[in-house]
Amino acid sequence: MRDFYEILEINRDASVSEIKKSYKKLAKKYHPDLNQGDKEAEAKFKEISVAYEVLSDEQKRSNYDRFGEDGINGNFQDSGFGGFGDIFGDIFDIFGGGGFQRESGADRRDIPIKGEDIRYDVNLSFREAVFGVEKTISIRRLEECKTCNGTGAEEGSKVETCDRCHGTGQMKVQSSSPFGRVVRVVDCDKCHGTGETIENPCKKCHGVGKETVNKKINVKIPAGVDNNTVITMSGEGHVGENGGPKGDLYIYLNVKEDSVFKRRGNDLYLEMPISYVDAVLGGTIKVPTLTSLIDYEIPKGTQGGTTFKIKNEGVPFVRREGKGNLYIIIDIIVPKKTSEEQRRILEELRENSSKGHEEIKKERKGFFEKFKELFE
Ligand SMILES: [Zn+2]
Ligand SMILES: [Zn+2]
Repeated sequence: MRDFYEILEINRDASVSEIKKSYKKLAKKYHPDLNQGDKEAEAKFKEISVAYEVLSDEQKRSNYDRFGEDGINGNFQDSGFGGFGDIFGDIFDIFGGGGFQRESGADRRDIPIKGEDIRYDVNLSFREAVFGVEKTISIRRLEECKTCNGTGAEEGSKVETCDRCHGTGQMKVQSSSPFGRVVRVVDCDKCHGTGETIENPCKKCHGVGKETVNKKINVKIPAGVDNNTVITMSGEGHVGENGGPKGDLYIYLNVKEDSVFKRRGNDLYLEMPISYVDAVLGGTIKVPTLTSLIDYEIPKGTQGGTTFKIKNEGVPFVRREGKGNLYIIIDIIVPKKTSEEQRRILEELRENSSKGHEEIKKERKGFFEKFKELFE
């Protein structure tokens, strides 16, 4: 690894605020969120982050000046920090995309951090999901304060290096314990870890540089989405820290079930009741698709539970051309009530069947033979 001073493009006698300034500039330039997929920028960003970790800390810097990198590796235990392993842990957090979770921002108060993501749930009817729809949603998000353009300062107000922590953003706090004095490093209570104080804070945002805004957003939901589909709108989340990019907006879809069509992927299933007469004789039945009623030819001798496929009458694919299929499952309805006339005809049919229905006779013979085997 190159010299830390060289990496941060500063002189060996650079002040805390010079180190900080140069680091801020470089970190923005090489931040992985702003250089997606660029391995070189990623490596460079890690390098400058490590160099900054060391040079921005008085103790580590003096060790580094005297002993080089060995000085920091051997000495971090008594410095009161988490140590080097912790530093790397934090740096890699950035690439995870989840943002920083730790409470104390001291170690990285100047790193450009991507804003937090927002989750929003949208309920859709079955048909909205199938055909696509445009929805306007209302979210609350943090944006750069418009009054001060995110600086947190009133116009003309100076931003100064904090005089309590001399720009480091950190203070050492001593306390006694049964094992002796313990020194902890916490965020500076005057500048809250930023290392800077503002002469006249912006009245709108009280110096934070951000404001909560109600934002209406138009969401185009494409045809064919399903339950648990997530639509990502990048850059529609909360504003970032230190010039980092905005977070993303994730829209989770909940789709209601339909009373007629059952959906499995992009295929639809429909239970179609037909009369037993149509099943025996065959015929044309009316079948509903997503858009119309069509005539469908049922062959004679159709059995209950038979499934017929109607191609391309399913749900459109979101990411490619085409649609799934519609499957109709035949459900033969046996009437509970019959008229006198129907009964007479059916009786006649029974008489007729028992005389000459070879198919049933064969089926029955097979059935009884199997039955006999069970008891032998
Ligand atoms: Zn403001
Ligand atoms: Zn301070």
